[in-house]
This record gives sequence, structure tokens and C-alpha cells, in this order.
Amino acid sequence: MIEVHNLSKIYTLGKTTLSAVKNISFFLKRGTILGLVGESGCGKSTLGRLLLQLIQPTSGQILFEGSPIAKSRKDLQRRMQMIFQDPFSSLNPRMTVGDILEEPSIIHSMPSQVEQLLDLVGLPQNAKNRFPHEFSGGQRQRIGIARALSLNPDFIVCDEPISALDVSIQAQIVNLLLRLRKELELTYLFISHDLSMVRYISEEVAVMYQGEFVETAPTEILYHTPLHPYTQILLSSIPKIRSVSRSPAHSPLSQTAPSFVGCPFAPRCPYATTQCRQEKPIFREVAPNHRVACHLQSFK
Ligand code: SF4
Repeated sequence: MIEVHNLSKIYTLGKTTLSAVKNISFFLKRGTILGLVGESGCGKSTLGRLLLQLIQPTSGQILFEGSPIAKSRKDLQRRMQMIFQDPFSSLNPRMTVGDILEEPSIIHSMPSQVEQLLDLVGLPQNAKNRFPHEFSGGQRQRIGIARALSLNPDFIVCDEPISALDVSIQAQIVNLLLRLRKELELTYLFISHDLSMVRYISEEVAVMYQGEFVETAPTEILYHTPLHPYTQILLSSIPKIRSVSRSPAHSPLSQTAPSFVGCPFAPRCPYATTQCRQEKPIFREVAPNHRVACHLQSFK
């Protein structure tokens, strides 16, 4: 359904450049859930926004069912939607739930289906006459999900959809997303820093570090046999990532420093060698559907 080729997003701040997303390529089959994990600020949300054309890439191409995505293509915009982290701030407090759910279909000249949307996400019909502040966090996220479904999309970017919710509510929302995926044949990019939830919901996982994919694999393979040291540390129960000072060499804004040629993870990697500091590893397939960017895997 989605093909991404060499996608990059570079921000320029005066004379400094920041590569938020670097040269990312991947395929996403219809009906699949791809989990995207990595530390805060690694580019996960930027990648999600690039896929939905909410921001424009610096270079690279995104194909949806074989056709390049262009902002002018209203139909593709309709078919690709987003569920946000904070349902409250993403809902207009002055609009009733009914108006919130109806607005996208009015803009796109489509029939309104407020009642069906409320049923789909498990909200009562009388919700349509009430305002967002009258609902709990979990119910607000159901409203956000209903709004994302209002244009009958095929692909949804779920950007940390459960991180603002109580733990007791998180599983309900994830199970709702799984049910909707099955009923409506949806495809998700599920962005989260909650590794256990990503394992539960996703068929494939991509691990992102400083704007790049460092490892991708089918979920159970990645969780059983993580190959990249960063993935191994993320998955280990004891946080062992060597903390680094915000020296110029390690600040995000130095990511594109021309002098930095080695592995981006080398300053924090327990296995870093001289080669790692001098030569950037290639992101390559080391087993069927298992790709990794690490010199340790080069000769296996
Ligand atoms: Fe660590 Fe070297 Fe692999 Fe980078 S290439 S993750 S520094 S072992």
C-alpha cells in the first residue's frame, strides 16, 4: 500500500542544518501494523507527518498504491488520516462531538455518518450533543479515532495514541484499534515508546535512531533476536544506554556535521570499534525481512 523511497527531511536554522529524517525507505502492505519505536526526538513523528503530507520532504518519494502522493490529491488525503497523542488538544472545545465528527465529511462533500462512527468506537449516541470536556481521556481518544475514521480512510498514522492515557485505559484503546483494523481493513503506522504495547499490536517493527532506521523486522523476530545494539538496549529490562553530555558532537543539531562519518550510535555503543567511528554501516538485509545497520552484522 505504501512505498517510501529515500525520504529525508532537513530543517535549516541559520547556518545549521538538522536532519530530522534521513534517507528512509520501506514498504507497508495493506492490513499491516508497523510499529515505530525510538527515543523521543528521533524523528518518529516527523516521519508520520511526512507520510500524511502534513510537512513536505526535502527529498525522496512516497507512493500510495503505486502513485506518488501529492498535496493536491484530495482523495489521497482523505484516505490517510492521523490519530493524535493528546485527544483533548486536538478536539475543538467549542464544537459538539456531533459537529466534530461531521466537519470532515462536509469539507470533503461526503455523507455524514455520525451515528455509525459513535457505534464503531463504542460511544453512546447521546455523545453527539455533548462537548469534549464532558468526556474522560479514554472517551476523548475514542472521539479522536471516530474523527479519523469519518472519511473512510485506508491508512492511519497513530502518533503515540495511548501515552496520554491511564494504564487501565491504554489496553482498551489498543484493542479498539485492533478491532477496527480487522473490521475496516485498515493499515496503521503505530508510533510509540511503549515497547510492550508495540509488540502486542504490530506485525512489523522499525527501530529509529537519530532520524534513521537502524533495524526493521517482523515483530517476534525483532523481540527474540534483536541484532542492533541500540535495539538490544531498548529491549533490555535494565536501562544501560551510556548517558552522553550535550556536547556539540552529540547534540541533535550536529547530526549532519560533515566531520561525523561513522555510526551515529558509536558514542553510546558498548561494542564500538575504530571501524564504527570511521565508517557508517549500511542498512542491509541480514535475514529474510530483517534489516540492520551495524558493522557487527556485516560478516554473518
Ligand atoms: Fe555499535 Fe559499531 Fe554496530 Fe554502530 S556499527 S551499533 S557502533 S557495533
